[in-house]
Amino acid sequence: MICYLYPEPTYLIFSSDVPLLLYYSHIPTILLFLSIGLYVYFNDRHSLLNKLLLFISLCFSAWITISLIAWTIINAEIIAFIWPLFGVLAGLVSILCIYFVYVFLNKKDVPFSYKVAFTLLLLPLFLFAPTDLSVSGFDLTNCDSFAFEGIAYKVYYTLLGVLAMVWVLVLMVNGYRREVEEDVKKQILYVGIGIELFLFLFFSIVFLITYLVNLGILPDSRLEMYGLFGMVAFMFSIAFTSVKYKAFNVNLAAPVALVIGLWIFVFSLLFIRKIEIVQVIVSVTLFFLFIFGYALIKSIRREIRQRQEIERLAKRLKQANTRLRELDKQKSEFVSIASHQLRSPLTVISGYASMLREGGFGKLPAKAKESTERIYQSARLMTQSIEEYLNVSRIESGNMKYEKVDFNLRNEVERIANDSRQEAIKRGLLLMFKTDMTTSGIVNADVGKVVQAIHNLINNSLKYTPKGSVNVLVRDDQVKKRIYVEVIDTGIGMSEKTLNTIFQKFERADNAHKVNIQGTGLGLYMALKIIEAMGGTITASSEGEGKGSKFVLELPLLKCFGFEHLSFSGSII
Ligand code: ADP
Repeated sequence: MICYLYPEPTYLIFSSDVPLLLYYSHIPTILLFLSIGLYVYFNDRHSLLNKLLLFISLCFSAWITISLIAWTIINAEIIAFIWPLFGVLAGLVSILCIYFVYVFLNKKDVPFSYKVAFTLLLLPLFLFAPTDLSVSGFDLTNCDSFAFEGIAYKVYYTLLGVLAMVWVLVLMVNGYRREVEEDVKKQILYVGIGIELFLFLFFSIVFLITYLVNLGILPDSRLEMYGLFGMVAFMFSIAFTSVKYKAFNVNLAAPVALVIGLWIFVFSLLFIRKIEIVQVIVSVTLFFLFIFGYALIKSIRREIRQRQEIERLAKRLKQANTRLRELDKQKSEFVSIASHQLRSPLTVISGYASMLREGGFGKLPAKAKESTERIYQSARLMTQSIEEYLNVSRIESGNMKYEKVDFNLRNEVERIANDSRQEAIKRGLLLMFKTDMTTSGIVNADVGKVVQAIHNLINNSLKYTPKGSVNVLVRDDQVKKRIYVEVIDTGIGMSEKTLNTIFQKFERADNAHKVNIQGTGLGLYMALKIIEAMGGTITASSEGEGKGSKFVLELPLLKCFGFEHLSFSGSII
């Protein structure tokens, strides 16, 4: 509006000579677009999709702002400055919509070639914006600010809008066809329709309405304002459907946007003075109230239903859990009874086999000697396994008894290492024992069970090390009041996956079977349970398969009894 007959507007946009509906259609639209864009963005700033939605809101809000200024301002210089921005912003909105749809469908950024194409398409708009090709002047005769826009420039950015509509349609149809999941298909359909209508209305506001006014088909360009209302609705639908299907990862966005929308629309009613337009405005507000209210109720109902479903599932899970615990207890009791029954006959078999192999019944022929040895070894292994099962069932039923006493852990470890040396020599391995102590290493624990756990760690290292060495190191930390037993070998090592499971019952690595056929997968489980009951823990680490393993057992130190120097002892075969 450039006319000496009109007064200068206050704050660039407030003038009494423009239709009031103009403010009602423009200002809430700007506020709504900005609040939706910013809300979605701040919920997850790293998501590319959220960033794109924010850019679309920013460009479109800027477009509406300059449209409002163009309606009210009477300063020719300002109009001459802002007019070319229409084309630039319209082009940006179109291209950003294509970008948005691509990322929405493919869940990844566009390829480099797309980015080049987008830049090339936008380049002419930026290059020619400050030239006569975009705006060459104004028609002052009818007090209107309709510019003499360069036809080529206008056609170009309008065509960009048409191109965006076609491009988005192709992307959406392809995405829809490719998708197999029904839920995602629906999501594509809703967002697709929303964005197409958004683009179509934008195209109508930017081009169609002015064109029809020029042809004399429409009386004036007021329809543009209704187009803006429509665009808000579609922006909502895009944000809402995307949120509903978790595309933006924002759960609260929809209800919050709806409530903000209602506030803004109802608040703006306060400024309506002319009775003729009250009907229009109340109808538009009612329309939005209906849509928002419906969506809000639906979303709340969905949330409530989901919560009820979760509560129902939690209850069932609890019941199932109780039943499982009962079954587990029954299983432990069964194992315990069965193991006890097996133990007595096995003791008899072992006893007689032992007497036979030691010549208690006279010298045996070579063949019989060999068979007796086999019977004896098998019975020994079986006794060990049964002992392990019994211990597991004791631990699980809470019947494991611990008798804690004060003892010197460092000395115990040295003794176990010495006892295991024979086995190491038999396997052709080097077994080293080292200490790095600042105290004498007294702990308060069940000595028999702790020894069993350490024995298990050293024994495992011997079993799972085909060649090389096993190092046992005892060290302490006076500040933390802990003592550590490290067992480090150069054996078959463990993968990341194996490391996560070895402390569970009956878990053995695939490579364990190759090196050591026998084994129950219970040793580490029990060792950990025992050490945990003493207030300590066991951790395992390995660089990977074939790269050796390291087990660290730690227990609380009882007292710090003075300093001992680093000592070293070992055996080399
Ligand atoms: P078992 O030795 O009877 O199989 P354990 O509970 O003692 O049962 O060990 C569980 C698994 O942990 C073993 O089967 C093996 O896969 C892995 N493991 C234990 N110690 C070592 C080690 N020193 N090196 C490589 N793997 C090991």
